[in-house]
Amino acid sequence: MCGIVGYVGNKQAKPILLDCLSRLEYRGYDSSGVAVLDDNIKVYKDKVRVGVIQEKCPQLSGTLGVAHTRWATHGPPSLVNAHPHLDCTGRFAVVHNGVITNYQSLRKSLTAEGHKFISETDSEVIPHLIEKYFQDSIEKAVEDAIAMLDGSYSIIVLSEDASKLVVARKNSPLVIGIGDDEMFIASDVPAIISYTSKVIYLEDGDVGEVTRNNVKITRNGEETKRETQHITWGREDVQKAGYEHFMLKEIHEQPRVIRDTLVENDLLSTRLTISKSVESLSIIACGTSYNAGLIGEYIIQELLGIPTITAIGSEFNHRRTLYPGEAIAITQSGETADVLLAMKKLQSAGIKILAITNVQGSTASRIANRTIYIKAGPEVSVAATKSFVAQLIALYQLVLLHPDIDTEIRDQLAVDLQRIPITVEKVFDLEPQIMDYSRYLSEHDSAFFIGRGINYPIALEGALKLKEISYIHAEGYAAGELKHGPFALLYSGVPVIAIVAQDANHDSMVTSIKEIKARNAHVMALVDENDDSLDDLVDVVLKVPHSHSLLSPVVNTVPLQLLAYYTAKLRGCPIDFPRNLAKSVTVE
Ligand code: GLU
Repeated sequence: MCGIVGYVGNKQAKPILLDCLSRLEYRGYDSSGVAVLDDNIKVYKDKVRVGVIQEKCPQLSGTLGVAHTRWATHGPPSLVNAHPHLDCTGRFAVVHNGVITNYQSLRKSLTAEGHKFISETDSEVIPHLIEKYFQDSIEKAVEDAIAMLDGSYSIIVLSEDASKLVVARKNSPLVIGIGDDEMFIASDVPAIISYTSKVIYLEDGDVGEVTRNNVKITRNGEETKRETQHITWGREDVQKAGYEHFMLKEIHEQPRVIRDTLVENDLLSTRLTISKSVESLSIIACGTSYNAGLIGEYIIQELLGIPTITAIGSEFNHRRTLYPGEAIAITQSGETADVLLAMKKLQSAGIKILAITNVQGSTASRIANRTIYIKAGPEVSVAATKSFVAQLIALYQLVLLHPDIDTEIRDQLAVDLQRIPITVEKVFDLEPQIMDYSRYLSEHDSAFFIGRGINYPIALEGALKLKEISYIHAEGYAAGELKHGPFALLYSGVPVIAIVAQDANHDSMVTSIKEIKARNAHVMALVDENDDSLDDLVDVVLKVPHSHSLLSPVVNTVPLQLLAYYTAKLRGCPIDFPRNLAKSVTVE
């Protein structure tokens, strides 16, 4: 959520800071701001988009600065609540990502000591603490200040009397990009990839002192080394490449992403799978990754016979009892706060964790015992598409690599999995038909997605995509469950999207659809191209390219992504940056 950026180098800081900041816009935010060290620290901020700051910000001259996009947690979006925040003297400017949970007591005692607060944010305590502790070393003052903080933070501190930036992190991501006589700091790599591909990821508890040609990292006052990593993707991966939206580009990248993920993890082979005689498995994830987890649960139980439970990160964290065995944590960013908390809980109980993530060096990959990297590349659109499909591929690989799988099924599925990129490519031939149906859908305020068995999570994911980007109220339901309540909502013409695979659930799906049609709902059915059984029963039939029924979720999810996309477009929604949502949910 939100983004922080810092620059120290030999060039004018402001244009670089705002350029980097604009590349973090995908993470979701409501206000933005920048501070540059001129003769003294100059701040420009407001409840506006980065583009407006770029246009309106007066000339700020200096080669050292910080910038911020805020996703408000404490106090509404407004000019005073926007970051950077200053101390009373204006000598220290701080940008903060995260939540300080003990800010009220800190604010009270600082106020009693004479500090004046002007915002409602939790963040403002940080510059005041730095002011309080500063004697002659800014690093020392930052160390003393963060020792007082509970909660999560990544911060960059700009100080009037130093030609360096000081950074620190705890439970919130931060990366330092190494340039030639210049350094970049950001919450995430896409911000700085146009400038450098050499990066250092900070770890929780690290404090960094960044000058234009040196990075010094300390922990508890002791100097420590962090490896420099090379990012393999480039700036073209964070551009739209001729597509109107990142989401559409990312949907169309899926055949490639599937191929890359297949290649990547085949090379890594069996050491990445779950252990042989594991008693049970817990899968932890949030949002779209949770839906991927449910499909993982299905195939693990079906093909390996291991009892598996999928839990929502935030719910898992309140459970008293843990299941024995191992765990799988799924998080696109590797920084999802609720998942990280769950991972720490599992870790302290001695449970082995396998992470599935898109981001090398992310916190999830560092906590986990083993990590499978999906090769989605940077996903800019807030609504996840290609990362979901890549997570599914990783889960299939995990199962196929397991020694307990029946070899005949494994060989069959392995062949079919290799064909999946081509099958997904064929889905794009259906785009005109999907656009057509999106006209109908766009005129309704509510919709249902139904499925059974392995395609039930795809109904959940179809509904989630639609609500995220088109703002249409959508329910994903297990088809058999509709009559236990939601049937009351079926009025004549209400859109129901049914996902029908050629598996053991097929006939029950047809029965459910008949019951729905008897209530005059408007049904679109997604069926295998060889399936004619619904031709005369439903209003619209979308015939998707054939695949093995166990792999059908990968194919079925793509038309639903496109459906959400075209529906949102007709409704004039800001597709890549839906209201109130953030890409990487780094707060609990
Ligand atoms: N909690 C801080 C605020 O409300 C920072 C939020 C953020 O991460 O953008 O200002």
